Parts: sequence; C-alpha cells; structure tokens
Amino acid sequence: MDYDLEKAKSQENDFLMRNYARLPVLFVRGHGTRLWDDTGKEYVDFVSGLGACVAGHCHPEIIAAIVRQASQLIHVSNLYFNRPQGELAEMLARFTFAEKTFFCNSGTEAVEAALKLARKYMRAVRGEERYVIVSALRSFHGRGYGAMAATGQPGKSQLFGPMPEGFVHVPFNDLPALEAVVGEDTCAVLLEPIQGEGGVYVADPGYLKSARELCRDSGALLILDEVQSGMGRTGALFAHEHYGITPDIMTIAKGLAGGLPIGAMLTTAEVAKGFGPGDYGTTFGGNPVVCSAALATLTVLFEEQLVENAGQVGAYFKGKLEGLLRSSGALSEVRGIGLMLAVELKQEKAREIVQSCLQQGYVVNNIGPNILRFLPPLSISTREIDGLVATLEGLLSGCEN
Ligand code: PLP
Repeated sequence: MDYDLEKAKSQENDFLMRNYARLPVLFVRGHGTRLWDDTGKEYVDFVSGLGACVAGHCHPEIIAAIVRQASQLIHVSNLYFNRPQGELAEMLARFTFAEKTFFCNSGTEAVEAALKLARKYMRAVRGEERYVIVSALRSFHGRGYGAMAATGQPGKSQLFGPMPEGFVHVPFNDLPALEAVVGEDTCAVLLEPIQGEGGVYVADPGYLKSARELCRDSGALLILDEVQSGMGRTGALFAHEHYGITPDIMTIAKGLAGGLPIGAMLTTAEVAKGFGPGDYGTTFGGNPVVCSAALATLTVLFEEQLVENAGQVGAYFKGKLEGLLRSSGALSEVRGIGLMLAVELKQEKAREIVQSCLQQGYVVNNIGPNILRFLPPLSISTREIDGLVATLEGLLSGCEN
C-alpha cells in the first residue's frame, strides 16, 4: 500500500491541528455494518461515524443518488432554487411536526440557527427582554459560541471566554429546577431528549411532558436538539415521538444525509416568521448533492424498515447489556433507548476497552474514562450484537473488582 497508518500519523504530526485524540486505525473502506482498515482487517462498526451512517456504510441507493446528482449539478448558491432542497424540506414536513426547514451543514449550525430564530421571534412577539436560553447541565449542543454557551459542561467553554450572555443551566430531569428558572425573561428551553455526549442519559417521560407544558404556559419556546437522537436511532424517527409531545423548534444533523455533512433546523410556520432574508444563511446549506443523499437516506430508512429494526434490535441489545450488568461486577449501569446505548464502568477503563475491542474487530466509542457508547448503523443484526457482547464479556472479566 502506498498510503498506510504510519503515513497518516506522520501527516497528522506535520500538517494537522492536534485537536483529535485519534485511535490508531486508518479505515479505507466501508459497506453496511462493516469497515476495513489499510491492512485489510474487517471490523463491525458500533459507532457509525458518531451516529451519522444510519443506513450503514456506502449504501448503494445513497451512492446512486449522490452520483446521479453530482453528475448533473454539484452546487448552486441559495441565491437560486434547487430541487433536492425543496423536496427534502417537503419530505421532512410530511414526517415531522414541522412546516418549515432551514438547512445548514452541521449540528452546531442547526443549534446556532435555532438560538437565533428563537431570540428574533420572541423579540418580535414578546419583547426584547425575553432573551434567556435555559438548557441542561451535562448537555451538549456543539462548539460554536452560541451552541457552546448552551452546552451544560463548563469544561468545554471555560478557556474560551468571555461567553455570550443570557444562558442558564439547570440539572437535567429536575422539574422543580426548571420551574424555578423559567419566567418572564425566558426565550426558550433547549433540551436533548437523550443527552448523548453527556453520557446517554434519557429524559424521564414526565420531565419532557412537563417541560412542554411549562414552555406553553410561560410563553417560552421549546427547542429539542435531536442531532444525535434523531433519524430513527431510538426506534422512532425522532425521540420526542416516544414522549407524545412536539417541540416548537427541532435541530437535526448527523444521520440525516447518511454520512454527508448536513444540519437542519425545523419549526412551525408561525415561529418560522421570525426569519426573513439575510437573517441567517450559509453557502453550502441545502446543497443539491447532500440533499439528494438525505432523500435517499430517508427512503432507505423507510423501505428497509430500519427505524423499526433500531427499536427491536436495540431492545435486544439493551437486554444483553443488562445481562452483562447482572453477570459482571465491572458495570454499574446500562442506559439508552433503541440503538443509542451506553454502559457505565465502575473503573476508569473505557479507553482500554475501546482499544481492545478494536484489536478484536469491533469499533465502539467511549465518553470520558468510564462510559462505553454504542451508536451502530440501524441495520445492525442480533448476530453482530451477540459477537460484540461476547467480546465485552471477556474484556470486562479483567475489570472486576
Ligand atoms: N447537538 C447534539 C445533541 C450533538 O450530539 C452534537 C454532536 O455530537 C451536536 C449538537 C453538534 O453537532 P456537530 O458535531 O454536527 O456540529
């Protein structure tokens, strides 16, 4: 091979900024739930590009849509119309609470758009003193200044101050704490239905329902960040469907275009009135190739019943992890819904386990020193899950107290 892991490492050393703590593997090919590295070794992927490749790697229908659109028109700006963007917005309106969509390129940008829309809409309908954004401790909303200010993890922002004003954080799943801060100055409450980067903590059913009612009663907007929990991962197209509520604004990204960069901010026709020409825009948002990939991804999710699979296989996976929790002394908790799952270790050995899994042909992810997270493609099978669980069982036996 003329390009291998050693070459990639030396290029990173010489030419890349050092802001990723990479694992020592160079993936060169993907298909379905599988990845291959530069030596030809095969892996089962339980990370799926951090939740992006929901329909698996290199799905033929998604490739065909990308190739078809790329050979016709790769890019025009938002100064003009393009068909895939309009069709994707129409499809999202059909399958969600939302009537209007704004497209961008990442989850962070979708959150920035949601914050800007919420503040501008509220300023217009309720006055400029309603600007406070309430979000949860341990949340993650991205790394731009607005999204970082909303993120409830002080460690992510403390060296980058001063931060934008008007952000308040409350403990997650604590309704009295939320009730105590939502008031006359609240613009919006921003929550993840399942806190992903914070460690896969699921919102209690009553909490999200009450947050919805609290926002309605106090005149604030409810923004749900479904960047990680959306696109079928939890066994519903969007996690808030499990709770029987709808937000005023929703942010999505990751799995929407099956692995190409995209973000979207969705809202009602009423709240969408907050944005006029020039209020927000981005060169590549709604790009025709990316939107074609998203249309194909949604089609594959429905045709192959991958959302249902995520629910069923996810329940099987969670059951197996709970079995490990009972049989092994190394785990303290299993959390999550569908194929958004995590286990917490009693010891800080998550990174070692991730490395050992990699050696044994399983790609898994750790959040901090003691949480293992699983975000596989929604097409993952029970056999593949059995293989990973057997591997974990062996590795965890070395971590018991
Ligand atoms: N919001 C949530 C809930 C996320 O999990 C993430 C990323 O993990 C983001 C926002 C930021 O998305 P991106 O990395 O695409 O900017």
